Amino acid sequence: MSPATGAPGATPKYTKKDFESDQDVRWCPGCGDYAILSAVQKTMPDLGIPREDIVFISGIGCSSRFPYYMNTYGFHTIHGRAPALATGLKLARPDLKVFIVTGDASSLDDKYTVFGRVVDGMAVVEAIEQAPVNGEAPVTRIELSRVRVQR
Ligand code: SF4
Repeated sequence: MSPATGAPGATPKYTKKDFESDQDVRWCPGCGDYAILSAVQKTMPDLGIPREDIVFISGIGCSSRFPYYMNTYGFHTIHGRAPALATGLKLARPDLKVFIVTGDASSLDDKYTVFGRVVDGMAVVEAIEQAPVNGEAPVTRIELSRVRVQR
């Protein structure tokens, strides 16, 4: 069943069912991934994002079968590369809402990745780009002391 639509151009009113794909879920009985999948499918309608603007990107492992089970766009990529693929997609299509799915591997090295667009302070970004590096790491530690996030 297709989601109910309101006014032209308005985000359709989705339900959890709209985010369930037609694929058989292949996780072990009792796997915690079922609860995560169900919670995400249940939450997506509340976000009010058109389904065609949503992309789930995963790496490898059991949890990375996730994009198959979401009725959105998705990409099951390769070992440890979900953040890189997601970053590339977000750079190419900043209008999309990109979600990364990963297991307990160190894909994000215990840190967070936030996608966004710099609307002010490009001089800071350029200064960081110019910082001397040793390989890929800056020679001296770079810290941002203040960042303002706008929605
Ligand atoms: S993570 Fe994979 S192996 Fe472990 S219970 Fe879930 S489906 Fe089975």
